[in-house]
Amino acid sequence: MYKEIEQYFQENNLPKFRINQLEDLIFKQFVSSFDEMSTFPKSLREQLNEKFDLFTLSLVETKKTKDTVKFVFKTKDDNYIESVLILHDKRRTVCVSSQIFCAMGCKFCATGAKPFKRNLTVNEIVEQVLFISNYLKNKNERVTNIVYMGMGEPFMNYDNVIESIRIFNDENKFNIGARHIVVSTVGIIPKIKEFMNFNLQVKLAISLHAANNKLRSELMPINDQYPLKKLIEAGDQFTKKTNKKVSYEYVLIKNVNDSEDHANELVKLLKGKLVHVNLIVYNPHEFANFEKPSKSVVDKFKKILNSNNIESSIRHSIGDEISGACGQLAGKN
Ligand code: SAH
Ligand code: SF4
Repeated sequence: MYKEIEQYFQENNLPKFRINQLEDLIFKQFVSSFDEMSTFPKSLREQLNEKFDLFTLSLVETKKTKDTVKFVFKTKDDNYIESVLILHDKRRTVCVSSQIFCAMGCKFCATGAKPFKRNLTVNEIVEQVLFISNYLKNKNERVTNIVYMGMGEPFMNYDNVIESIRIFNDENKFNIGARHIVVSTVGIIPKIKEFMNFNLQVKLAISLHAANNKLRSELMPINDQYPLKKLIEAGDQFTKKTNKKVSYEYVLIKNVNDSEDHANELVKLLKGKLVHVNLIVYNPHEFANFEKPSKSVVDKFKKILNSNNIESSIRHSIGDEISGACGQLAGKN
């Protein structure tokens, strides 16, 4: 509960160096209790212990594979949220949740299959990364990247997400470079427009998944409100305003959106634009009846993009053995 503690320090006129120490203890040393705050006098530690919980979340479970660790947290109001730590080369990426479930109802997504509960607070978003930083500290490692690709739609919790980004980016706090932070949205156009005026170099990913309105609306009901043409226009404006390419995510689902015709349709939509396409192989889960395409289908899809000079990469489903992959975060029952 960093925010409240800092406020308490200010209200009680504690000297500025105490706030600096507090920041250092929480965001650099990743302490897990007030008792570990040995730079503070005992009386102050006692006061804090009495008045605050250091964390609003409690860690209830971790599940590991070779290159991912899933963390399950319990909120004060007894909901469960999940975050995933992804280990690739030297990068330590945390996939954070921004909501408890999601109201967008995308047909292929496990998070969207459950009724939406509520937005996460700034504390709850930030604490996911604090716990994981503490976990990495023991291995002499630190979180290097943040992606808002866990449970929920970040742009439906815009203000808290922006405040959390400021804390991740703040050099006195996590000090994670803005270029190492990605926000992924289902395509909330007014918020994409607000986001492009946000003076940080944070990256934007837009979930596309289909290049025609009929199929996109079937898969993602929000497309009725924010249809393709306007969405791509917003993406173009983002690039114009920020000089940064938009990353379009495209989950390949067997016999749904993975044919050569679909690839050509995608080419038509994006050709000549400064974009990156992130092809994600669908992760099967119990809440939907879709299947993942074969490797040859995925490769052919990518080849069509390549031959039209559209930059792309393939994201394989790391972590799916522990249901820690994208679109599989469904909380705990
Ligand atoms: N709500 C945001 C961010 C969270 S989802 C969004 O939709 O963009 C992060 C990514 O995982 C999105 O691109 C989403 O479409 C994708 N995803 C959802 N379900 C998936 C599944 N079953 N397999 C693979 N990717 C999935
Ligand atoms: Fe929500 Fe994103 Fe899942 Fe759609 S894909 S239901 S927006 S979390």
